[in-house]
Amino acid sequence: MATPSPTTFSQPFNFFKDVRRTTLKTSTIFGPKLKSGEIEHTHLRLLTFFKTGPRLELKASKEPPGLTQQLDNSRLESLAETENVCDFFEDLKHRFLRFKKRKFKENLEHFQNLAQGQAPKFMIIACADSRVCPSNILGFQPGEAFVVRNIANLVPTFESGPSETNAALEFAVNALKVENILVIGHSRCGGIRALMSMQDEEDSSFIRSWVVVGNNARLITKSAASNLSFDQQCRHCEKESVYHSLSNLLTYPWIEEKVARGELFVHGGYYDFVECTFEKWTMDYEGGNLQKNSRFAVKNQFYWC
Ligand SMILES: [Zn+2]
Repeated sequence: MATPSPTTFSQPFNFFKDVRRTTLKTSTIFGPKLKSGEIEHTHLRLLTFFKTGPRLELKASKEPPGLTQQLDNSRLESLAETENVCDFFEDLKHRFLRFKKRKFKENLEHFQNLAQGQAPKFMIIACADSRVCPSNILGFQPGEAFVVRNIANLVPTFESGPSETNAALEFAVNALKVENILVIGHSRCGGIRALMSMQDEEDSSFIRSWVVVGNNARLITKSAASNLSFDQQCRHCEKESVYHSLSNLLTYPWIEEKVARGELFVHGGYYDFVECTFEKWTMDYEGGNLQKNSRFAVKNQFYWC
């Protein structure tokens, strides 16, 4: 059996490969509670442990693998604290196997086709908020939607430079040739709250640096809804920011061209998870009369409740 080199511990993929080769040592690492053969548990424990023990990870990159045998009792206690996390991963394992049995295997031909390539009709831009998963609330199935999620479902302008959101847009529009882009805002959005709470003075946090993308929506909200409570202003801005994101989409020349030719449609959505309602509208680009940063006409507006 090959001995992993010390440096492999700082490289996740090699790390797991090497863990597999050194499974026999896991009883030394994790004590007698771990039965031999519990490979999956071993990986999970190691994953969790290395996530929660950065100092050991750093040390492991410098010392030979034998250091794992030197774990003291306090570190073993910290492993015990990860039991709940392991239980959760056990739950995830069952969910995955259920998906494989009930969806993948029962629709094998569909998934085999998907394995050859994807041709989604939709690109979705949604908030990273754990309560607003588009696949969950709108039932998108694998292969149906190319999804990017970010704080407050914002779309930066073309001029603002590269970001993961416009990289995803470029791929979805130019390579996948999606026919629809749907930006979904939602109720009680923490990102919009951060945007609305933002002070004019500089703040170097990553969150502030990102949500400032929606600053125009914030300014319009502050101006149009100044008589409302802060919570109501946030709700107003949650929708206003979607309008601004849709406008920002048109700052990308390759998006505007397709919209003008009727090859691509841009939609807004708003999911209220308090009342469980969904509003949907489509940008009306007829005549190309959209002025930059102006409010555009909408069509096909629906309210699902
Ligand atoms: Zn949000």
